[in-house]
Amino acid sequence: MKLIEALERGLAERAAAGLRRARRTIDSPAGTRVDIDGRRLIAFASNDYLGLANHPDVVAAARAAASRWGVGAAASHLVCGHYAPHAALEEELAAWVGPCAGARALTFSSGYLANLAILTALAGRGDAIFADRLNHACLNDGALLSRAQFVRYPHRDLANLRSRLAASSARRKLIATDAVFSMDGDLAPLPGLLALADEFDAWLVVDDAHGFGVLGGGADAGRGALAHFGLVSERIVYMGTLGKAAGVAGAFVAAHSAVVATLVETARMYVFTTAAPPLLAEALRASLAVIRGDRARHAHLAALVGRFRDRMRPLSWQLLPSATPIQPLLVGDNAAALALSRELWRRGFWVPAIRPPTVPAGTARLRITLTAAHTFGDIDALADALLQLAPPSSAPR
Ligand SMILES: *Cc1c(COP(=O)(O)O)cnc(C)c1O
Repeated sequence: MKLIEALERGLAERAAAGLRRARRTIDSPAGTRVDIDGRRLIAFASNDYLGLANHPDVVAAARAAASRWGVGAAASHLVCGHYAPHAALEEELAAWVGPCAGARALTFSSGYLANLAILTALAGRGDAIFADRLNHACLNDGALLSRAQFVRYPHRDLANLRSRLAASSARRKLIATDAVFSMDGDLAPLPGLLALADEFDAWLVVDDAHGFGVLGGGADAGRGALAHFGLVSERIVYMGTLGKAAGVAGAFVAAHSAVVATLVETARMYVFTTAAPPLLAEALRASLAVIRGDRARHAHLAALVGRFRDRMRPLSWQLLPSATPIQPLLVGDNAAALALSRELWRRGFWVPAIRPPTVPAGTARLRITLTAAHTFGDIDALADALLQLAPPSSAPR
């Protein structure tokens, strides 16, 4: 059949360009050790930054909640799918990360849906969305779906953004950014972005998928990017995901109560989808308790990041300048990144190669992620392998 032949041709072309994507089936729970095809590997691949996806307290909460609440929500939130665990989780999240006084929180089934919801609810025809060029795909998809004018500015370039905002005659303006860039590990200049939002009366949408649970020091450890920078504003629409550092699934928006009420009533990604199982909300409340209470976990993760960067200093490949658990090693060429990932795999390490379109062409990389469940020994083993595979550079960097 012609339709199928066309697809197969496309797949073959993708494979020839080093862009084939396939899944690996894992026979063990999420963690630093994963069993695949009868082999055990050390994984540096997940977003489970705090090692909570299989934490005993979180698992116990899910188990107890399954007994208490069953497994399904049975309907969308507005019909009859909104349960006490959802409400309790939203209150806890709003109180903890609320970006302004009296902020409320709203949970979604995924971060992808939450971003689509925010952008389509707050912007439409005649409006303009300004987006960092390295934003996550779902912010871009949300912008396209909103039908607002979509303006992308160079990565972290406040001056460029300012001139674009100044030139815009859009009715409503919205700035959207990842707080921690998912494939680079660096931070958005949020204080500068908020200043521009103030100057041009724009919303500031902060996607903290990789900062929630991780960023914020001391008593604020895990509160995320807003705590890290000490930002409070009614213009901030904060989105945190709950399937990464929080270890479970879903996402939430924390914002002024008018924003949350608008999302509840108008966001199609909220209205027309079945609520997440209430047992997940209970698991997340247990996860939040660990994030807030277990300071040693945050300290260990920070120490691992420091150790890894120290060990990588002599390497000739470029480790991107990141202080987060996302530690990308820039290789450049698709095939070379794949070959390096394969060689690590052969040596017992799972480190994914990230290629276009996830990252710009010519910037294929290993996306090394560290978690609080790793040990210093794990870090050293990976560093040893990488140093063996790459010739050390002669000049110190
Ligand atoms: C993972 C991710 C999302 C999507 O969140 P999900 O809950 O996985 O759908 C959104 N934004 C960024 C920056 C992400 O990394």
